[in-house]
Amino acid sequence: MPKIKSSRTKRAPEGFDDIEPTLREFQTKMKDAENDPHEGKRKIEALWPIFRLHHQRSRYVYELYYKREAISKELYEYLLKQGYADANLIAKWKKAGYEKVCCLRCIQPKDTNFGTTCVCRVPRDKLEDGKVIECIHCGCRGCSSGSGASAGSAASRKGKPAAKSDDA
Ligand SMILES: [Zn+2]
Ligand SMILES: [Zn+2]
Repeated sequence: MPKIKSSRTKRAPEGFDDIEPTLREFQTKMKDAENDPHEGKRKIEALWPIFRLHHQRSRYVYELYYKREAISKELYEYLLKQGYADANLIAKWKKAGYEKVCCLRCIQPKDTNFGTTCVCRVPRDKLEDGKVIECIHCGCRGCSSGSGASAGSAASRKGKPAAKSDDA
């Protein structure tokens, strides 16, 4: 887990104050997820909420900068540096066909449960009817582009800029 400074960082770029409450919210939720006793869950499933929060927080930063253009480049780079977002994941989102990728593990050719890509990357119309999508890495229920499926949530994310409202 990236460490977040608890005291106010001296050199945070302008605009940081505006998004800090949301970042703190993510941090709190991550802590809660980590402290979850995991009763009755398999170990990997216990990690899913943490993966999702990680994804959502990166998404939040990504959309602030690339979609909403609400933060400066300086602040964006600061956030990456401080570990508030995953630069590798964001690099994928910028590529056609990878706009909704849930996590980096799911696009690694090895270590997947559906041939060369994770089951959650397979478009809905290519799957048998009624087949339940739930990847083994992060519990993603479908994150392929253009299939109408969305990562980690029942609500469609199409054209919606706010990752914040996207509760898992
Ligand atoms: Zn996925
Ligand atoms: Zn995943």
